[in-house]
Amino acid sequence: MEVACLDLEGVLVPEIWIAFAEETGIEELKATTRDIPDYDVLMQQRLRILDEHGLTLPQIQAVIAKLKPLDGAVDFIDWLRERFQVVILSDTFYEFSQPLMRQLGFPTLFCHRLIADDSGRIVDYKLRQANPKRQSVLAFKSLYYRIIAAGDSYNDTTMLSEADAGILFHAPQNVIDEFPQFPAVQNFEDLKKAFIAASNRDLVL
Ligand SMILES: [Mg+2]
Repeated sequence: MEVACLDLEGVLVPEIWIAFAEETGIEELKATTRDIPDYDVLMQQRLRILDEHGLTLPQIQAVIAKLKPLDGAVDFIDWLRERFQVVILSDTFYEFSQPLMRQLGFPTLFCHRLIADDSGRIVDYKLRQANPKRQSVLAFKSLYYRIIAAGDSYNDTTMLSEADAGILFHAPQNVIDEFPQFPAVQNFEDLKKAFIAASNRDLVL
């Protein structure tokens, strides 16, 4: 049997921090690992900014609940789940992704956790493990599953490399150029075709 491992942000849903920054008008929250490469420094800054604006977890979830999956994402994931066991491997947090995962029908998600106190203030975060996407693919392979993975960015490339087949979806040109070994597609119809091509079974669209 085959498992489809999918990245979340940029593939099925918008970049959550950027969409949240736009929804709230808090410009500083648009910083990403491209601006601040040290993830711990970046997260501490994000939590400080949330504190400065007095935003608690329920308030943040209410804003995120207004976000929608990308156009076509719900149909795509329904299509994929009829043909593969689907697992989403993401660097987001369960507490943030919840409103969007509800709209996707709660597929299996492996990601990180936020720690909130009794008042809802986010006080810390807990990464599930180091290199979680690659480790998850390795674990599924140890169960003798064949893995097809798709993602959009640098943090997906170890997952794509470890998988039996990797696909770049919505990737920027610099990532496509740097990883020419992966087929690169830009819309869900082509992504379906790429999954069918990567499968070792006779699947139809
Ligand atoms: Mg992504």
